[in-house]
Amino acid sequence: MSCPICGKATEPKYRPFCSKRCADVDLARWLRGSYVIPGDLAEEEDSPTEDPAAPHS
Ligand SMILES: [Zn+2]
Repeated sequence: MSCPICGKATEPKYRPFCSKRCADVDLARWLRGSYVIPGDLAEEEDSPTEDPAAPHS
């Protein structure tokens, strides 16, 4: 059996993954299927100050 994330040999300690990292990756993927994790999207929300569409008040 090989790691479903990277395909390396499975480590019994982290079965069915090869390492904790891959286990975390799989967990993150699984969690994203249930709800959105604020991480990658958080940076995009921090928009720059210059916004041509924003009206001056
Ligand atoms: Zn792996």
